[in-house]
Amino acid sequence: MNLKKLLSEIHRELWLLKHRGHDYSCPFCGYNADMMLPFGQEFVEDVEKYHIVGGGKRNVRCLKCGSHDRERLVYIYLKHVAGIFQSSRKFEVLHIAPEPRLSQTLLKSNLNYICGDLFTKGYTYPEYVRNMNVLHLPFEDNTFDVILCNHVLEHIPEDRKALQELFRTLKPSGLALLQVPISYQLEHTIEDFSIQDPHLREITFGQEDHCRLYGKDYIDRLKDSGFEVKMINISTEYAQFGVNPEENLFICRKRV
Ligand SMILES: [Zn+2]
Repeated sequence: MNLKKLLSEIHRELWLLKHRGHDYSCPFCGYNADMMLPFGQEFVEDVEKYHIVGGGKRNVRCLKCGSHDRERLVYIYLKHVAGIFQSSRKFEVLHIAPEPRLSQTLLKSNLNYICGDLFTKGYTYPEYVRNMNVLHLPFEDNTFDVILCNHVLEHIPEDRKALQELFRTLKPSGLALLQVPISYQLEHTIEDFSIQDPHLREITFGQEDHCRLYGKDYIDRLKDSGFEVKMINISTEYAQFGVNPEENLFICRKRV
């Protein structure tokens, strides 16, 4: 190891030592911290009024491993509520557009884990991520016990088609966690495909690469695809893991 790298590692270790505390506990790396780092993109004034939950700039990044609130929430649900790691059954899990910490943890677990993303030019992907289009999933009907699609649908123009594919490949009574950024102040989702300009998208939907801003009728969109949906909030119960108190989980099941 060269001297520059060694000094940088010592500096990082001292910094982590300095910020050890009891305010947050990361379920991925186990680091206990007195603070978290900023993550996400600040909303422009035009969309701030919508009070979008699950987006925007917020202090939610783990100092040690870089995990963020949204992937921690999904992991905590799977671990502490669904109990999929404790089960004697080997669950079949599909993870779309996998977040690094969550996917690495699931990969090392006792699950039959597959993850995929639509490969985009200019980006690199870990070798365990498969090139996959959520609009045409290369799997038989009723394949997966658990499907994770965490803050992905807002990027997909044909989100209803994606939902149909997720529903098709989920096993009867299987579980899908399909989180999106959402405004509970909006009765109806804002969607306008004529808006293609990145800046117009940012001031309309909250982010330049989003196709829409979901409102309270998101739940109807899930139900239209066949899912039975229950909206729950576990954030207060697991506040020590630095999750967003306002982020509800959409627990989607395939009716048997
Ligand atoms: Zn961490």
